[in-house]
Amino acid sequence: MTELTFESLGLAAPILQALKNAGFNSPTPIQAGALPAGLAGRDVLGTAQTGTGKTAAFALPILQQMAANPLRPRRFAARALILSPTRELAVQIEQEFRKFGTGLALNAVLVVGGVGRSGQVNRMSRGADIVVGTPGRICDLMSTRNLLIDQCQFFVLDEADRMLDLGFMPDIRKVVAALPNRRQSALFSATMPKEILSLAEGLLRDPVRVSIEPVASTPVLVEQHVHFVDGSAKKHLLSSLLRDPTLTRAIVFTRTKRGADRVALGLNAEKISATAMHGNLGQNARQRALEDFRAGNVRVLVATDLAARGIDVLGVSHVINYELPNEPESYVHRIGRTARNGAKGIAVALCDATELTYLNSIEKLTGVKMNVASGVRPAHAAAAKKPQRHPDMIVRKPRRPQYAQRRAA
Ligand code: ADP
Ligand code: MG
Repeated sequence: MTELTFESLGLAAPILQALKNAGFNSPTPIQAGALPAGLAGRDVLGTAQTGTGKTAAFALPILQQMAANPLRPRRFAARALILSPTRELAVQIEQEFRKFGTGLALNAVLVVGGVGRSGQVNRMSRGADIVVGTPGRICDLMSTRNLLIDQCQFFVLDEADRMLDLGFMPDIRKVVAALPNRRQSALFSATMPKEILSLAEGLLRDPVRVSIEPVASTPVLVEQHVHFVDGSAKKHLLSSLLRDPTLTRAIVFTRTKRGADRVALGLNAEKISATAMHGNLGQNARQRALEDFRAGNVRVLVATDLAARGIDVLGVSHVINYELPNEPESYVHRIGRTARNGAKGIAVALCDATELTYLNSIEKLTGVKMNVASGVRPAHAAAAKKPQRHPDMIVRKPRRPQYAQRRAA
């Protein structure tokens, strides 16, 4: 994925200023995935946990399109409708619209239960650019024609799985039935149970899917192996691993762009078809490398972490970590390139002495101990892992005097 910035998305100046004031320096992953689609007028189906920045992911495209096309809403009519499962969330969302919409002179109205409806009816009488609300009160105002959504251009269903849990599906269906066919919609949910998927099918048209997996969980279908090996022996080990014909399609990850080039060249010299993909290549070259890999013209893609996220190639049988990443989350993203759609996958790590600490933090994050495929797990690395489970193991006692000495010195 390229480094996306808010500026590069072509957002209106007042929105960019508001983002800056709010300290939003760069898009979060769900924003990077959803914003280009939303700004292009596409429907979005997003899977992401709370706290990932979904609000701006759907709010900014709506604000941008309203800024580009100012219209006065009719009495009681909403131009955009955002449904949220709880009042608190609705309040937050409305505030975020106000925050990023300052300077756009838009009218946002909160329509939630638990407070008097007359104030809301009053505010709706002038028409609203943005209505944020909970399903019950929204349906209530619709039933008395104090909220008209037949010309609503934007519809967002936030936290859809929560809505399902709270029994809001009948209300939601009522709302959806009253929407015009011509509209842009988005659905966000932390999980995608069957009911939500079928709701999404009826709601969204040719949606762009954006999915941000919780970072600590490794796919259960990935077998994880590690080779303890000298740095100088990695090259040889890699080519012998790649001679195995069961490796039908592999991504090899390196830490640096130059490393990726070097490894790909080395493999080509050994008549193993491989191509490099990293941030120093132009967008076309990058796309071509990916297409070649996807089409099966090359069996091995050698990549930096640039390729760790977002790449969706079916049938990646192996992910090989030629070098371990210093951020354990990157490892999870990397191996998530295999075992997609319920297939099985194998992740192989080549770990030299300098990378043992990386290995430890990875295993700590995932809670999975990799299977040793060759070499020997160094004793101190094994001991450093989860010392709390081995209270009688070496580590602690001998260390104390060392620290004491150092402090004294
Ligand atoms: P979600 O709806 O996924 O739970 P929110 O939209 O509520 O997430 O965002 C979670 C928090 O992250 C909020 O405090 C929000 O202000 C902040 N946030 C969202 N996007 C960014 C960003 N691009 N840069 C900095 N902070 C952000
Ligand atoms: Mg949210």
